[in-house]
Amino acid sequence: MTLDNKSITRKLKLIIQLMELHDENPFKIRSYQSAIYTIDQGAFSLEDLGREALQEIKGIGKSMAEVITSLKETQTSPVIEELLAKTPEGLLEVLQIKGLGPKKIKILWKDLNVTSTHELMEACQSGQVAKLKGFGERTQQGIIQAMEYNASNTGKWLYAEIEEVVEALRQDLEQKFGIGKVSITGDYARNMEILDHIELIIETADGKAVFDSINSISSLYQDLKTSSPDNWRGEIKDLNIKVLIHLTPPHSFVQENLLRTGSRAHLLSPVLEYPSLAGFFRSKPFESELLAYEEAGLSFIPAELREGHFEMRLAKEGKIPELLELDDLKGSLHNHSTYSDGKHSLKDMASYCKSLGYEYLGIADHSKSAFYAGGLDIETVIAQQQEIKLLNRELAPFRIFSGIESDILIDGSLDYPEDILASFDFIVASIHSSLGMNRQKATARLLTAIGNSYTTILGHPTGRLLLRRDGYPIDHKIIIDACAANDVVIEINANPWRLDLDWRWVNYALEQGVKLSINPDAHEKEAFSHMRYGVLVGRKGGLTREMTLNAFSADDLAAYFDRRKSLKVSPKT
Ligand SMILES: [Zn+2]
Ligand SMILES: [Zn+2]
Repeated sequence: MTLDNKSITRKLKLIIQLMELHDENPFKIRSYQSAIYTIDQGAFSLEDLGREALQEIKGIGKSMAEVITSLKETQTSPVIEELLAKTPEGLLEVLQIKGLGPKKIKILWKDLNVTSTHELMEACQSGQVAKLKGFGERTQQGIIQAMEYNASNTGKWLYAEIEEVVEALRQDLEQKFGIGKVSITGDYARNMEILDHIELIIETADGKAVFDSINSISSLYQDLKTSSPDNWRGEIKDLNIKVLIHLTPPHSFVQENLLRTGSRAHLLSPVLEYPSLAGFFRSKPFESELLAYEEAGLSFIPAELREGHFEMRLAKEGKIPELLELDDLKGSLHNHSTYSDGKHSLKDMASYCKSLGYEYLGIADHSKSAFYAGGLDIETVIAQQQEIKLLNRELAPFRIFSGIESDILIDGSLDYPEDILASFDFIVASIHSSLGMNRQKATARLLTAIGNSYTTILGHPTGRLLLRRDGYPIDHKIIIDACAANDVVIEINANPWRLDLDWRWVNYALEQGVKLSINPDAHEKEAFSHMRYGVLVGRKGGLTREMTLNAFSADDLAAYFDRRKSLKVSPKT
């Protein structure tokens, strides 16, 4: 295999970046730039040109011809190898970040010891990057955004990022094949938080005609090599996300849906005299999914529960719960305003929340240690609480609950003296700093915060950012048990990048009697719409209305907060 023009210029660009990173001779760097320019402008294919022909081209020359030939033949060159040898591996990923040139990366590397995207994100999150000379708040924000962009380009997508496109595709297909003849299956149908492909089924008796029809949808691109007569394979062009469309005759439509929606673990569960649920589903056609589960001796299992975690046990006992609906939510807790790093004022946030039909807004701006996020000093806390009183009169019966997102300090303590902590209706305790802890330290830090009788809600328990960075490692069981013992609610942070608590732990929490709160962590009005993603993953863990704190009415919630505050329980862990 030889490299084409594009691949070669990509390598030459990498050489330039590395040279700049290592402060190489600008004259040498310029010769690479002019070679790239020449290749981009020239109507020739590097693949066809030998070394002699190459060095005759103006703008390339002898030594560059050498490099290009080496790249063509070996995919690499001594120049690249030499530069790579003195570059930390993780910096190559940092070099991919848009808008962050080698000169800035060099400063990050030398001054903050950043050698990977992971470390860079942490440095941004803690505000250290903004403080560097020549960087500032805006650059820091830009870096974060660019990193999000990169992460989303690795073939994996957040549910929230692709749902519109998937729904549009479903509608396009329904227009062609009829409503009820198209269904989305696979991970997407189970509301998985991260997706790397989309799977659909079309009910049809005529395969060939269907392919032509599918191919007439302009957003799709068919991969002829991997498609087969019953399976259209390709991708959604703009997103580069894989799409699989299975064709199935009418009599097996329900069966196919059942077999392609459940996870492997779900389908492998034994049922009746069958070694697996899949075997039972394959045994005969069914009229509906409901009847199929009934005939298997099970309650109907909603698609998002078909994970093989706990649903089969419950379905056998007829105890599949009625899952939380978005409409069950009566208000929104854990939100930010311009008092800290939010985009909209407290009044705007409250009025907007009211206009959405909610009964209350919980405001939980950042606490004083989060200086990089405009954390509130004590005077500002008092000022905000006074404004809340006024707004509560103005917006009644709508209510604003006064909260704070208190940083959990490195020793696990909360961020204000007791009298200030006592002045809030509720406290969301979250970790935002020193994220590079081991499991033992992180767990101990959280346990101390959970044991603090002022903690109402544990905020984003692992601090993860999906597709961007892993959370700090925690012992989920110990943390959830402690929340149960101390009557602390756990947040499902509904920001689609977080969805933290992970749904895989929701059922365990519920079994321990721990309530959950679906919090958008909104930093602007529009983010209230994120509550939906929290509901989607809460449902995956079997979350019900009864166990959701912000499904409480405003009065019930006020009573809950009062009771919670009056219980000066001695910390138990
Ligand atoms: Zn937070
Ligand atoms: Zn927050």
